[in-house]
Amino acid sequence: MKLSEYPKDGRFGPYGGRYVPEILVPALEELEVAYEELKEDPSFKAELGELLRDFAGRPSPLYFAGNLTRHAGGAKIYLKREDLIHGGAHKLNNALGQALLAKRMGKRRLIAETGAGQHGTATAIAGAVLGLRTEIYMGALDAQRQRMNLFRMELLGAKVHLVESGSRTLKDAINEALRDWATRVRDTHYLVGSVVGPHPFPMIVRDFQSVIGHEVREQVLAREGRLPDLLVACVGGGSNAIGTFFPFSDDPGVGFLGVEGGGDGVRGSAPLSQGEVGVLHGMRTYLLQDEWGQIAETYSIAAGLDYPGVGPEHALYRDLGRAEYVAVTDRQAVEGFRLLSRLEGIIPALESAHAVYAAVARARELGPGGIVVVTLSGRGDKDLETVYGL
Ligand SMILES: *Cc1c(COP(=O)(O)O)cnc(C)c1O
Repeated sequence: MKLSEYPKDGRFGPYGGRYVPEILVPALEELEVAYEELKEDPSFKAELGELLRDFAGRPSPLYFAGNLTRHAGGAKIYLKREDLIHGGAHKLNNALGQALLAKRMGKRRLIAETGAGQHGTATAIAGAVLGLRTEIYMGALDAQRQRMNLFRMELLGAKVHLVESGSRTLKDAINEALRDWATRVRDTHYLVGSVVGPHPFPMIVRDFQSVIGHEVREQVLAREGRLPDLLVACVGGGSNAIGTFFPFSDDPGVGFLGVEGGGDGVRGSAPLSQGEVGVLHGMRTYLLQDEWGQIAETYSIAAGLDYPGVGPEHALYRDLGRAEYVAVTDRQAVEGFRLLSRLEGIIPALESAHAVYAAVARARELGPGGIVVVTLSGRGDKDLETVYGL
């Protein structure tokens, strides 16, 4: 079976699936049916295409990073500039796609969970432009740490619910959002922020983010006349990475490198590099958990990478050896952050800086004549205070 044909029966090999309470199954089935129908609908595609172009700013450029290439002294390094998309990251690709899908399904209300506030902000933007009521669940502790994002979401017209249960962070916000959805599925769409959760979310989010890889293919062919040797992207839940990789999944000459958050050496958030298989948030995948299957506390300097699980399609790619996954530490990511800022005049998100660091090392190994494309998932304005304090 070709990799591009997954998921099959809601699964990516042994991963994925739909491990949810019965009460959510009809909503997931309704979503799957509506999506299969709408994704081929010319008027849906045209409306989404126009939003992506005129509102989000697509296509994003593929930039030849000449200074970084000279610094690495090896393969050519190109940057796919998702940092230039409205909102400052790739997240809007998915938020616009799902919000439009929800609207076409007759839903009037969007809910989403958010950790640091990036996905909540993208959802609030999509809700505003499409005229949908938007409510965001955010851990109370996260909200304290990210006051500006809280203010941003409120400005955009979203109602933010602070979650006081558990550790008052992302996983508690996900639980609250799922609880909300279970009671209001008729008028509500749960806008999941990455390629995670029960089927069909990993597939839907992958498809909406694949605009990244489709553009890369066209842009690199126009510029170089051939496909790249290696694609590099950071992996939190895995949406910017799979969106980059998926359109090349049946091209064996194109290598994939996913870069996880290695953290501070004691704690990290790298389930593909260091985790084991289990079930969380409706899916079977690699997780960071203790010997009893309790979910471990994760940590990364980059909030977007700080998640104990990962999209099930990456779990399949890992087992098949189709993609390689490595963990880059906080310290190395900050090195990548400073390097790209100084050499190219581009301040990357700390998430993306993990990918930059790994790409420089690989470009060196590949040597001159090679082509590496790094997806720069977002811009770094949000991270200045974090790095300034170091
Ligand atoms: C949210 C985020 C990520 C991580 O999410 P993925 O689903 O793994 O792509 C990476 N980079 C940035 C800038 C983000 O905002």
